[in-house]
Amino acid sequence: MLVVKKFGGTSVANKERIYNVARRCIEEYQKGNDVVVVLSAMGKLTDELIEMAMDINPNPSKRELDMLLTTGEQTSVSLMSMAMAALGVPSISLNAFQVAMHTTSNYGNARLKRIDTERIKHELESRKIVIVTGFQGINKYDDYTTLGRGGSDTTAVALAAALRADKCEIYTDVDGVYTADPRIVKTAKKLNEITYDEMLDLATLGAGVLHNRSVEMAKKYGVALVVRSSLTNEEGTIVKEDVKVERMLVSGVAVDKSAERISVIGLADKPGTAFRLFDALAKANINVDMILQSVGRDNTKDISFTVDGNCGDEALKVIEDNKARLNYQNVEIEKNVCKVSVVGAGMMSNPGVAAKMFECLYNEHINIKMISTSEIRVTVLIDVNEAERAANAIHDIFGLAE
Ligand code: ADP
Ligand code: ASP
Ligand code: MG
Repeated sequence: MLVVKKFGGTSVANKERIYNVARRCIEEYQKGNDVVVVLSAMGKLTDELIEMAMDINPNPSKRELDMLLTTGEQTSVSLMSMAMAALGVPSISLNAFQVAMHTTSNYGNARLKRIDTERIKHELESRKIVIVTGFQGINKYDDYTTLGRGGSDTTAVALAAALRADKCEIYTDVDGVYTADPRIVKTAKKLNEITYDEMLDLATLGAGVLHNRSVEMAKKYGVALVVRSSLTNEEGTIVKEDVKVERMLVSGVAVDKSAERISVIGLADKPGTAFRLFDALAKANINVDMILQSVGRDNTKDISFTVDGNCGDEALKVIEDNKARLNYQNVEIEKNVCKVSVVGAGMMSNPGVAAKMFECLYNEHINIKMISTSEIRVTVLIDVNEAERAANAIHDIFGLAE
């Protein structure tokens, strides 16, 4: 059996934790299984490296930033191999270059395109545990790229798919996927199973327990994913196509505090306006999420939209740089907003989820700034200072704590 195990930053934060991970992997190896281990940078090292970069130059080149960040994961994998050697088990650490994990060229947010598996297979055949750097890749210029914050999960799933692994286990500092972030909602409950679609929405809407692209990839290649704790032997949460249990109306609540809102006021109320605005943003690689357009009046209209990942300033600059072409009166940015969402496959056949959520926010005197929905989710934009209160109240009203 071939098993891919991924361990996040807190799971390898210090010597003791590194040895803990080494032992867990060796246990699997000693059952006779092939083991591929994917690691993140130790503790908060990625944040610290970013701080170091900003201190030297507040506007570093994206290429150089990726060059720096990839050292974080490289530190973890080499130390892990040394720990395994000290425990008497053969292993080898490999970075993205040595494996050859090919990505698109955009630094900071590259996508995996293809993984060469020969080197890994060769090392597994010689009965070594193979330890691979998460989060990084190489592009067509032979430069290092990174996959976006939290991207090691995606490395693990991509490797599991490429190697046709039997299992892909994501070990982290919580013992599974919960009905809400347990740091925000104390009464959150662990889910035994969740569908790919629900998990994808939760991850995209702020549940940082899994990188959303890892879920997208797991669904595409049918990789059975398990999220579990690196510190306990609890069973964890299985993420898969279909779940056995009867569907709950709502499976979880997610909060995304990285959302920002831009409002473009006084645009011409005629064909092509929205196209020109969103085309300019798309060309700058800015992902737009919720969009609201006002009713046209006096030949003008307003369009507001949200962007995630704190890239509001970038969006603002694109709009200001294109002022002549876009022809608007004014543009505003609001940063103290956040998205709160409920996700659940059960919504498809049950009307009233949105109304119940809005009633709950009304009871809490929380104002809704924007709304968007899909078949299996409802998202509202509210003031960021009300995020915790809203998430807890919504979690309660849908009976998720019971
Ligand atoms: P790692 O370093 O292991 O990748 P992360 O910090 O990326 O760990 O992800 C784990 C964290 O995700 C948890 O500590 C928890 O606070 C947060 N989280 C957010 N939403 C959820 C959720 N629905 N279920 C579990 N954890 C969640
Ligand atoms: N070390 C990277 C980060 O902090 C990748 C990861 O942890 O998945 O974002
Ligand atoms: Mg993570």
